Amino acid sequence: MIETVVDGPANFDTTAPPSEDAYPRDEPTGEDSTLRPRRLGRAEGSVGSPTLLCLGCTHGNEPSGALALRRILDTLKSDPTGLVGSLVGLIGNRRALRAGQRFLRHDLNRHWQAERVDRIRATEGRGLEAEDAELFELDREIDQIADQAGKELFAMDLHTTSGEGPCFVVLDDSLKNRELALEVPSTVVVGLEEELSGTVTHHLANLGATVFGFEAGQHDDPTSVDRAEAAIWITLEACGVLEAGGRPEPERGRRLLEQDRGAHPHVVEVQYRHAVRPEDEFQMEPGFINFQPIRPGMLLATDRRGEVRATRKGLILMPLYQKLGEDGFFVVRPLRTLWLELSARVRRGHWERFIHLLPGVQRHPERDDSFVVDRRWARFLALELFHLLGYRRSGPVGRFLVMTRRTEE
Ligand SMILES: [Zn+2]
Repeated sequence: MIETVVDGPANFDTTAPPSEDAYPRDEPTGEDSTLRPRRLGRAEGSVGSPTLLCLGCTHGNEPSGALALRRILDTLKSDPTGLVGSLVGLIGNRRALRAGQRFLRHDLNRHWQAERVDRIRATEGRGLEAEDAELFELDREIDQIADQAGKELFAMDLHTTSGEGPCFVVLDDSLKNRELALEVPSTVVVGLEEELSGTVTHHLANLGATVFGFEAGQHDDPTSVDRAEAAIWITLEACGVLEAGGRPEPERGRRLLEQDRGAHPHVVEVQYRHAVRPEDEFQMEPGFINFQPIRPGMLLATDRRGEVRATRKGLILMPLYQKLGEDGFFVVRPLRTLWLELSARVRRGHWERFIHLLPGVQRHPERDDSFVVDRRWARFLALELFHLLGYRRSGPVGRFLVMTRRTEE
């Protein structure tokens, strides 16, 4: 992927915090001067080379990603060996980070729908509540980085989970995102983005970035910082910001994440999301960890209606062990590599030219990139076929489903 190697001094923002030791959780809320700078730093290679944009603390109670970025930026500052492109680190939700909370008013990682972003841009930043102000500022920063990015923009959004277990990758399943994400040896979860609307990774994908999310482990586990760091080093090399084989950290990172994944499958797909609202009084049973096998009838949680039991066999993902959150848990199942290969071939062959011939499937009357599916006629198999072809559900679940082509293909 790399044609030229440029050795040179790395340039850093001087505004970055001096050390990683503190992202205090109990700072008083108040004026903006108490907020951490949005930019964690920037390591700069040669002009026209790829850029990797990394976001930490999109959720304010998840400091691991930002801490890992500080470590890497510090390391590259003292030793820029192999640095070809650029790395930029940003804090996602500064106001929530200051409060040590996932968010203040609403989840910053669910509100990047195009119409909403346009509406917030139109305010020019005036009169916005916490997360809308964050979105406004972050959007401007991302735009600037995307404009400056030379050859190609790559991006990672770094998170942690309230439950324990091995780390994993989440992606908007386009071919280029998948190709990059599969370089990270952790379990890749596909189909989650269909359940979650308005994520920042989806926004970045719409801007043309090759992007994925990384969940580095439990929020307060110090080893989550090591895993986030490993994933960033691997990605820096995979997207050509670092010269391949030019320094030891990416290989060290691969070994760490392989060990962390253990015998878990490399790719899984989401089968079910258990949505929760605050009034549900959802309470997860203790002790569940990511990728723990479950079977039908198993007691998973309780809510105000009583027991929540598993209705299917699978692996549990992201059991909710914190107060704030709209997802109780997910159930995933392993996806065979053969299926991934087949879907890549089918997408390249543009087989969607024929899909409207299926019963219950029509071209969308207004959108070239979409089909309307009548679920009375086209049930499960048709949806599987759409997934295989690189389409995702873009409207609500009802009798008619709108399936839209993923942006980047
Ligand atoms: Zn998060």
